[in-house]
Amino acid sequence: MKFFEKMVKPKTEEAIALMKENGILVSKTLAEVGKIVAPGVTTLELNRVAETFIRDHGAIPSFLGYDGFPYSLCISVNDVVVHGFPSDYVLKEGDIVSVDCGTFYKGYNGDSAYTFPVGEVDAETQTLLDVTKESLYRGIAAAVAGNRTGDIGHAVQSYAESFGFSVVRELEGHGIGKEMHEAPGVPNYGRKGQGARLVDGMTICIEPMINAGARAVYLAKNGWAVHTSDRRKSAHFELTVVVRKGQAELLSTFDFIEKC
Ligand code: MG
Ligand code: MG
Repeated sequence: MKFFEKMVKPKTEEAIALMKENGILVSKTLAEVGKIVAPGVTTLELNRVAETFIRDHGAIPSFLGYDGFPYSLCISVNDVVVHGFPSDYVLKEGDIVSVDCGTFYKGYNGDSAYTFPVGEVDAETQTLLDVTKESLYRGIAAAVAGNRTGDIGHAVQSYAESFGFSVVRELEGHGIGKEMHEAPGVPNYGRKGQGARLVDGMTICIEPMINAGARAVYLAKNGWAVHTSDRRKSAHFELTVVVRKGQAELLSTFDFIEKC
């Protein structure tokens, strides 16, 4: 350990159990949203369904009011990478829509995202979705005690770039707990053996943002939505995990979306 390297305290097993309750709730919320993703639906309707579902379970949508963010979900369509506002935009066949959801429940946070195809998407777009999700799982496979954040970033980057896609570098994953964003930062690019050391019991969100074209992005005038500069599509998948020895443990899951 470098002298000045900041140690991130692992969570207690009690905290991890409460974070798993949050992880399950965000996972189920994403599945509720996924059930109604279709051509003709507005993204505000997705936001309404999620907010109702979260509150009906006694939790708070943690994005609402976070740094002034005005909605319960971040909804990012096509060339929007992340942090899009729900709106009266009507989803159409061939779009992709990233839905990012956070909950606050029993003193802890949950945070996950899934990019849904709207109806049928073209082959390249489907590949972008498949590769981005697989890059997340490869990142999770590297999230083991003794590794470093650079091992996660390297796993994500090397896989995504092998398909000719590019990794957004301006935004990254993060630690999570009582706060939605805690140390360490978890970049989606990097070198093996570099970055913060991962320890048993550390809870982190891994969230690759992968562009079909170039990696350059810009911030919209509203100060939130991040767009690809070349206007090509971008995909985003996020799960919360706890670092363990040998293999990370999932605190959130896509099973409710994909196995229902
Ligand atoms: Mg998120
Ligand atoms: Mg996150």
